[in-house]
Amino acid sequence: MSALWTRRQVLTQLGIAAAAVHTLDPHELCCAVPAYAQTADKDLFELKKVGDGVYAAVAATRYKVNCNAAVILTDDGVVVVDSHSKPSAARALYGEIQSLTKKPVRKVINTHFHWDHWQGNEAYAAASPGLEIIASQQTRENLTRPDAGVGGIPYIEKQLAAMPGEIQKLKDDIQQASSPEMKARLESSLQQAESFWQELKQMKPALPTRTVTTMVTLQEQGREIQLHMLGRAHTNGDLFIYLPKEKVVASGDALIDWMPFLNDGYPEDWVQTLTKLEALDFTQVIPGHGEVRPKAHLTFFRGYLSDLIASVKKAAGDGASLDEMKAKIPDQLALKYEPGMSKYPLGRYRDRVGQNIELVYQKVVKKS
Ligand SMILES: [Zn+2]
Ligand SMILES: [Zn+2]
Repeated sequence: MSALWTRRQVLTQLGIAAAAVHTLDPHELCCAVPAYAQTADKDLFELKKVGDGVYAAVAATRYKVNCNAAVILTDDGVVVVDSHSKPSAARALYGEIQSLTKKPVRKVINTHFHWDHWQGNEAYAAASPGLEIIASQQTRENLTRPDAGVGGIPYIEKQLAAMPGEIQKLKDDIQQASSPEMKARLESSLQQAESFWQELKQMKPALPTRTVTTMVTLQEQGREIQLHMLGRAHTNGDLFIYLPKEKVVASGDALIDWMPFLNDGYPEDWVQTLTKLEALDFTQVIPGHGEVRPKAHLTFFRGYLSDLIASVKKAAGDGASLDEMKAKIPDQLALKYEPGMSKYPLGRYRDRVGQNIELVYQKVVKKS
C-alpha cells in the first residue's frame, strides 16, 4: 500500500494527523485514525490468499480504523478471526466471504478486547444463528470491566461521549482547511465519523460465548486450528491462532506491521511471549494491522521492543529525565527501526515512539 502513496498525499495526511491528534484521548492512538481515506465500503478489505482456503482480509485505511481479519474456510463453514470496529465493516467483509463460499460463518475468534477487533461481532451473530464467539477468559472479562482499557462495553460509552466533540472538531477543521484536497478529506472523515456515531448508538454488542484458558485445538471439518495462550503481551489475554498444516499465524496486535501500541500492554512479558510464538513452526503472519508478513518480521518487531526497553532502562540508570529520554532515544533507535516501522500512513515510528518511551518508563522502570 505504502508504495502507492505519493509524497504529497503522505505529507497532506501527516499534516492532518498532527492537527487531529490533539483532540484524541491518548488511549485512542491505538486505533483512531486522524482523518481521510475515501474508500468505498466494497473496498474496505482486500482478501489475500495465504494458503489453501485461508485468507488475510487486509483492512483499508479508514477514519475509524478496522483491524485485519483472518478468514479460514472449512468443509462445513467459515472461521473468522476478529471483527473490526463496527458492524458495517464486518458486514462488508461477510459480503466478500460470500464470494468465496456460501457456507455459514460458524465461529468468530477475538484475539483481544480492543474496540477495533470485536465491535463487529454482532453482524456475524445476526447472520449466523448458533455462531460461536471464542476469546480468552481474560478478554471476556476485559470486555465488561470498566477499567480494562481501549475496548469493551464501557469503552463503547466512552466513544459515544467523545463523538460529538470529535465531530465538532472536524467541522471546525473543515472551516480552516488550507487546501481543497484537505477539505475533501476532512469532509470524508466527517461523514465517516457521523455514520460511526450512528452505528455506536445502535450497537448490540455480541460477547464471546466460549472462553479458553489454555491451548485448545479446534478440529474444524478438515482443518486444524490451534488457539495458543503464550503469556501477556499487547494485553493480558492475547490469543494466537495457529494453523499448523498451513504454517500461518493470526497474531492480533501482539505482532503488527505498525509500531506497537503499549497502553494495555506488558513490555517485558511481550518480548518473552513473542519468543514463545517464534517456537511455533510457521512461515506467514496475518497481523492485526498492516500487510501479511514473513516469520522474520517477528525478530524485527521483538527487537524494537527489547531495544526500547533496554534504552529506557539504561537512560533511567544514567539519571536521565523522561523528557531527556524522549529527546534522545527516538534518534538512537531510528536507524534500525524507523524505515520498517513507517510503511503506512498510520502507526508510524515518529507517531508513537515518544508515547512508547513514556509507557515503558512507567511500566518497566517505575512499575506503576
Ligand atoms: Zn488494533
Ligand atoms: Zn489492540
